[in-house]
Amino acid sequence: MKSGGSEGVDAYPAHARRITDRFTLMDSDSGVSAVSLLGSNESVPVELVNADGGSSAVLVCDHASNRVPQQLGSLGLDDVQLADHIGWDPGAAEVARRLSTLLDAPLVLSGYSRLVIDCNRPLLSVGSIAEQSDGVPVPGNRGLSLSERESRINELFRPYHEAIDRLLDGRTRRPSLLLSIHSFTPVLNGQPRPWHIGVSHWRDRQLAALMLGVLAHTGEYTVGDNEPYPIDADIDYTIPVHGEGRGLPSVMIEIRQDEIRTTSGASAWATRLAEAYRKIEAEALQYFESLPRT
Ligand SMILES: [Zn+2]
Repeated sequence: MKSGGSEGVDAYPAHARRITDRFTLMDSDSGVSAVSLLGSNESVPVELVNADGGSSAVLVCDHASNRVPQQLGSLGLDDVQLADHIGWDPGAAEVARRLSTLLDAPLVLSGYSRLVIDCNRPLLSVGSIAEQSDGVPVPGNRGLSLSERESRINELFRPYHEAIDRLLDGRTRRPSLLLSIHSFTPVLNGQPRPWHIGVSHWRDRQLAALMLGVLAHTGEYTVGDNEPYPIDADIDYTIPVHGEGRGLPSVMIEIRQDEIRTTSGASAWATRLAEAYRKIEAEALQYFESLPRT
């Protein structure tokens, strides 16, 4: 499935950074200090695991947590709704942590729910701070002031992406292949989804093609090729900006949530992904070396 636009490879990240910078400018121009969102006793907005890991793989997990800052209560949702797939990617962080250990790969995880601000959505997209998700209204996201939006951007979105930037900036002498780990709900809009795992790419299909080849090879699983979600720069942020935007081979991996509800399920998929990565690593690094560097 085709995705992405016809812009140059570096066009989107520049655009994305202008949007981020614009919010910063509005903040500083306003002369009003933004309301602090996170209390001093609250969890940090980003977690960096195994920063010095020796692997060529760099792992990120945009939807790792369903935590909501205390100041926002429950966003008007109940516990069941917040625990559901609209709040986070159940199981994804567990798989990512185990994969980080197995590959000795660095991993960056977001610390708060995608419903507070979605770290994989461009800031001006409707999904950035969603007023509804999968048909569920999110009362706490309605009628936000500019200051309230800025707090979520500056205290949650920016620290997460700046951590990824710093990590990748620090790996100048090491190749980096970006793997973004997600999970997807088994049923959407009443439709069961057949894939056990999906591998998605933006405009550069190379790394995805290698992963798909190995994962599909055994015939044991139904593997989605750009399913259940293709990557679209109007909707997705992480791969277009930190992957292709940096000229890095990159891939989004989506695992069906019923496969990784248990720790044993998450462990099994982390092991399969680690084995798949080891099989493709040499060829993927050859491809990395063939790409032009600025
Ligand atoms: Zn996700």
